[in-house]
Amino acid sequence: MTELAMRSVVIIGAGPVGCALATLLRRQGLEVDLFERQAESSGTGSGHSFNLTLTSRGLDCLPRSVKRRLYLQGSVLAKRIIHHRDGAISTQAYGTMDNHHLLSIPRGVLQDLLRDQALRAGARIHYGQQCIDVDTARPSALLRDRDGSSTWVTGDLLVGCDGANSAVRDAIVAAHPNDMWMTRDTIAHGYAEINMDYRDADPTGMHLWPRGDHFLQAQPNRDQTFTTSLFKPTASDGARRHFSDLPSATAISDYCATQFPDVFGRMSAVGEELAGRSPGRLRIINCAPYHHRRAVLVGDAAHAVVPFFGQGINCSFEDAATLASLLEKFQAAVRAEGGTVASVGEVVVDEYSAVRVKAGHALAELSLQNLAELSDHVNDPRFLARRALERRLHELRPELYTPLYQLVAFTHMPYDAAQRVHQETSAVLDSLCRGRDVRAEQDAIIAEFAELYGSAAQLASPGQLTTPAKRTG
Ligand SMILES: Cc1cc2nc3c(=O)[nH]c(=O)nc-3n(C[C@H](O)[C@H](O)[C@H](O)COP(=O)(O)OP(=O)(O)OC[C@H]3O[C@@H](n4cnc5c(N)ncnc54)[C@H](O)[C@@H]3O)c2cc1C
Repeated sequence: MTELAMRSVVIIGAGPVGCALATLLRRQGLEVDLFERQAESSGTGSGHSFNLTLTSRGLDCLPRSVKRRLYLQGSVLAKRIIHHRDGAISTQAYGTMDNHHLLSIPRGVLQDLLRDQALRAGARIHYGQQCIDVDTARPSALLRDRDGSSTWVTGDLLVGCDGANSAVRDAIVAAHPNDMWMTRDTIAHGYAEINMDYRDADPTGMHLWPRGDHFLQAQPNRDQTFTTSLFKPTASDGARRHFSDLPSATAISDYCATQFPDVFGRMSAVGEELAGRSPGRLRIINCAPYHHRRAVLVGDAAHAVVPFFGQGINCSFEDAATLASLLEKFQAAVRAEGGTVASVGEVVVDEYSAVRVKAGHALAELSLQNLAELSDHVNDPRFLARRALERRLHELRPELYTPLYQLVAFTHMPYDAAQRVHQETSAVLDSLCRGRDVRAEQDAIIAEFAELYGSAAQLASPGQLTTPAKRTG
């Protein structure tokens, strides 16, 4: 038997997830080579300019030093600030603990920091190398450089971190259609960034203007600017795609003046700005399993989700941490008991897939469902009364109930388990709230829930329903 611990990993894509994974693997002493399609100077991964919100779920997967550096460069957002149609403003805290906040960080800043960390950890990044094919058995990737010449590179494990349009994934599906399936959907909503001078606004929350099936969002940056984006259904007139019912600069301008009168004066050029470019498309890409032989998919290459839960990259960092910890575990086992690189690689990716596919698919569903919350529900008094009830229930009986947002953003409960728990507890709450004034009868409903669900939970699986996070001081 050839006894060989795994030594080298080839990662395709030096975006945020590829770089984060490279750092984690270097800490185990593995040789890590990243191959990135773009030139070194282009820097910011896939080229999107928007901010990313990180939550403790994703942040906890990164080394402590990286997390500290991110906090130095990002903005902490502890609440949503809702701008209602009538001009009123209300706030909704994201959670109940100190670590229940979003860390909003420009994509380029995150990318630069993670790339810097990967290089410092000893990973090698090769730019201008586009993956065009893979062989999952060796495992190898065929790379084409800027001059058009191609070379195969081989490692003990091949990881596709090459984003939503993953060439690694597409090559596996094309060569092994019976072993990996994939679906690719585009939703009607698109998004566009808007220049808005919002300097004097509250920088401690995510500003949101929910307006039915569309919403405006402004995320504070550390330099007192805001990154503002409009999310709205799109339509195509044959020649170009635009926000629906807004085919011209005048229509866009009138729409913003009517829908967002409180900030319209701060986006003076919005008509020309949006009429000049097509809204970004939002895709959902699912596949399963996330591996083939000794090749594995991590991050958006495995699951591209719509951004309405702000969890895409958090989920991706969780993928990276899961893969790294499985590798560490199996490396130790192989050193103790013997084995081959091939068998370790295949066992690791198999276990990784078994855990992460369920999580990725659940996040895709949860993210789509949250569109309704951002566009509409946060404006609705009945919805707000229900959220107030849930929050109070959690404060009084955290062992019985944690709101979905907290489970998803601030715990490490797998997304699929969070989804299941939420479906169960929501059904109970729905039946208790039906036909009642939820605000006026909050205490009674909580008492009934505790009585009903408390005993049911004890019978089923004590302690399984929630994982409240610890207060961080
Ligand atoms: C509008 C929008 C808002 C979002 N907001 C949030 C948010 O607030 N919070 C959050 O958690 N997530 C958010 N996301 C999701 C987040 O952007 C992704 O989850 C994240 O970028 C995934 O990182 P990645 O490294 O897997 O892929 P990418 O960032 O796409 O990086 C892939 C890398 O691979 C390279 N590459 C591609 N193809 C090849 C190839 N063939 N060969 C070599 N290299 C290649 C690319 O150049 C790139 O550097 C948002 C997404 C969108 C669209």
